[in-house]
Amino acid sequence: MSNAFYTVPTPVNEPVKSYAKGSLERKLLFEAYDEMYEKQVAVPIYINGEAIFTDQVKEIKPPHDHNHVVGTYTLATTDHIKNAITSCLEAKLAWEHMPWQDRAAIFLKAAALISGPYRYKINAATMIGQSKNMYQAEIDSACELIDFFNFNAKFLEEIYASQPISSEGIWNRTEYRPLEGFVYAVTPFNFTAIAGNLPAAPVLMGNVCVWKPSESQMYSAQVIMEVLIEAGLPKGVINMVSGNPAMISEEVLKHKEFSGLHFTGSTQVFKHLWKQIALNLDHYKSYPKIVGETGGKDFVWVHPSADVATVGTALIRGAFEYQGQKCSAASRAYIPQSMWHALKTYLGDQLATIKVGTPREASNFVNAVIHKVSFNKLVDSIEFVKNADDATIEFGGGYDNAKGYFVDPTIILAKKPDFKTMKEELFGPILTIYVYEDAAWEATLAQVDQTSEYALTGAIFAKERSVINKVTKLLSNSAGNFYINDKPTGAVVGQQPFGGARGSGTNDKAGSIYNLLRWVSPRTIKENFVPPTNYKYPFLES
Ligand code: NAD
Repeated sequence: MSNAFYTVPTPVNEPVKSYAKGSLERKLLFEAYDEMYEKQVAVPIYINGEAIFTDQVKEIKPPHDHNHVVGTYTLATTDHIKNAITSCLEAKLAWEHMPWQDRAAIFLKAAALISGPYRYKINAATMIGQSKNMYQAEIDSACELIDFFNFNAKFLEEIYASQPISSEGIWNRTEYRPLEGFVYAVTPFNFTAIAGNLPAAPVLMGNVCVWKPSESQMYSAQVIMEVLIEAGLPKGVINMVSGNPAMISEEVLKHKEFSGLHFTGSTQVFKHLWKQIALNLDHYKSYPKIVGETGGKDFVWVHPSADVATVGTALIRGAFEYQGQKCSAASRAYIPQSMWHALKTYLGDQLATIKVGTPREASNFVNAVIHKVSFNKLVDSIEFVKNADDATIEFGGGYDNAKGYFVDPTIILAKKPDFKTMKEELFGPILTIYVYEDAAWEATLAQVDQTSEYALTGAIFAKERSVINKVTKLLSNSAGNFYINDKPTGAVVGQQPFGGARGSGTNDKAGSIYNLLRWVSPRTIKENFVPPTNYKYPFLES
């Protein structure tokens, strides 16, 4: 009998394993990788708890070895999508009436499973399917996903505990109903943690969900489903469907009971989905909630008072970790003239030590970009710069897709602050630098703010406090995650709630209470213990 006010265990961030040479974790992870690399995985679609396989499949190939097949994923038909929605709606009542502590327990258990028995499997799936090195896989598919599940359970408790005051003879209460209908989660390739969090966050709050992972994340998506099922998620609460994204979205978004979109991906796709929702608006039962975290053109702005090695390290990690395929990746930098010479030497020395290749080789800092379309786009950008008058390639510029989609870490020097690659999101290991006259440092801030349509992350480097103070104020709308003397990547759940505005999204801060609040529809209840028995107020007496 649940007759006590339970509290959720206080979350702490999952410790990141080092995978240092000779460590047990490195050995176990590579064992999992090798075993999975040689096997064939068959990823089903999941409807009403049933794993459905058909002969309509696509192959899964590691981006770093694109002739090698590690399995297939199943392509849904329109009937599958209709069934997935029906299954959600049938599961809904029982799920939302399940005591919240049982709902929370499922995700706390999922976190514990990933922390323990599933850690190497989910990390290996991320390494193979998304070409992340072991450290990038660890901070994403293990640590961040564990943190999302643990912290969100605590945020749920805080939301439910938030209650209104009551005057004498009255008891006011707020209950946090899930949305009517179902939520649609559409997730990107680049973070396994985001893929897990987007369906899980609304579901934790009592919603039911159709989840469409990215075609380029299907291997680790399957592991997420395995974990959730083992953690006790009831049938039909999350239905995972894969296949043609346009067909699936069209089918989902025209349903009367569609009540929320939880999206992370490119700005262009988000806008397209928003427009589709708008066209269906008259047909819906409720106004759908729309949450989208999208693209970025993340900046690093450097003051002459900053330190060369600090800036250089932030640029290399910020721009090239996971091949620059983080929405938060540093992709444009503003460097004072007085620092450029020393910084260039520093970057050149560091880049000479960076190895590019398969994540199976521990010493490779940079691995493959996600797919052919991305590779071609990056190659086009590099070739464009090679032929441009107002920019040069300072470092890198090489690429090779014979075995995998490899692009060398590349640094472009732009002669003008609005050069093409200073503005557009490329989503690869390409950083563009603009060198400014030291005396004009304040004028560059307007360029930082206005050059791109995005406002996701940004970092400033300076020692002078008055500069830090001034720049922080002047760039207050330029980034939703703003870093002072640190790289613009690597947000940690519970520490730096993540998201940006302008073209970068609705800024609902994944992994925070603000995000979970989007998935509830509060009901206010007023109970009067001694209701009045006469309509006449005292003022009515003449
Ligand atoms: P994407 O937009 O290509 O795909 C995202 C999702 O949308 C995938 O599930 C995809 O299948 C689906 N999709 C694609 N076309 C669709 C269509 N026509 N209709 C319906 N769905 C469609 O993005 P991606 O390449 O997977 O991820 C990279 C992008 O995501 C970058 O722009 C990056 O900045 C952004 N991102 C943002 C954040 C953030 O928090 N702001 C985090 C991660 C990634």
